[in-house]
Amino acid sequence: MTARTLDGQALAKTMQEEIRPEVAAFTAQHGRPPGLGIVLVGDNPASEVYVRNKLKAGADIGFRADLERLPVSATVSETLALVERLNRSDSHDGILVQSPLPKAMGVGAEQRVFDAIAPEKDVDGLTPVNVGRLVQKRAILVACTPSGIIELLDREKIPIAGRHAVVIGRSDIVGKPMALLLLHRDATVTVCHSRTPDLADICRQADLLVAAVGRPGLVTKRFVKPGAAVVDVGMNKVTDAAVAESLFSEGHPRLALFRSRGSVLVGDVHPEVAAVAGALTPVPGGVGPLTITMLMKNTLRAAKARAGKPVG
Ligand code: NAD
Repeated sequence: MTARTLDGQALAKTMQEEIRPEVAAFTAQHGRPPGLGIVLVGDNPASEVYVRNKLKAGADIGFRADLERLPVSATVSETLALVERLNRSDSHDGILVQSPLPKAMGVGAEQRVFDAIAPEKDVDGLTPVNVGRLVQKRAILVACTPSGIIELLDREKIPIAGRHAVVIGRSDIVGKPMALLLLHRDATVTVCHSRTPDLADICRQADLLVAAVGRPGLVTKRFVKPGAAVVDVGMNKVTDAAVAESLFSEGHPRLALFRSRGSVLVGDVHPEVAAVAGALTPVPGGVGPLTITMLMKNTLRAAKARAGKPVG
């Protein structure tokens, strides 16, 4: 069996075209576009790339997308003051603080800054109010990556209700909200993590397996029930030749890419899984593009909710 590819890139394009006229209608009615403020502190190279992609996607669809930068030396108070300014701004409906904040800000800084975001502008769904609403199945703004995955599963007609879903990873941004969304869709959900014994045995029971770990190729064939749907959230930059060679066989184009560039982006799912799974998201081109699109969708939802409109 060769797994069907779940093409997140194509779905992201389709969804962006669906959102575009709604953004135009909002702009026409309110005399301003829905606005997103992105806070970037410091100069982490990966964050620079993520933020650039988010700004570009926003501008392409017709949003106002502003980058608010602070230097790596910024204090927590300065960052909180910036978030407060965006909270008060009439032209910003969504606020995203790019993680990670510089280490020098100290332990707990990220939590303090995220907590300061006004819940109605919290387009990453990370504030306690929005997490609480998610637990109670009445959220308007839900973390972008897991909500993008639900959208992908629905549109690819992969059943969720009554299925056994296994989520590997329990982070606040992916694993936990993913488990809750699957539970709300009537899956029987198991959450695994770094302290789970017999991980492969548990995963092999899954009809639907979501890997959100950050370990290249962790999920091998023996983790996967034949025919299962596998969602690979991991985005790992591999720079070690031995790791690249353990993932891709000689002659594979991705190995050639690694050898020409010195790095390659891989997921948490080993490529050999394609021979066992029924459906599989690729990396790149799977979950990543949907995360950005859901950020836009959340910004539009926040803008409509702030304008007192039904969110849908
Ligand atoms: P995280 O580090 O916060 O959490 C990782 C989780 O994996 C933890 O809960 C930990 O318990 C678990 N874990 C670690 N080692 C394990 C092991 N050996 N076995 C089982 N579980 C283990 O990471 P995160 O923010 O949730 O991100 C996870 C991955 O997803 C990363 O590669 C990240 O880059 C990627 N990511 C991708 C997107 C996207 O849009 N595609 C978005 C967010 C995160």
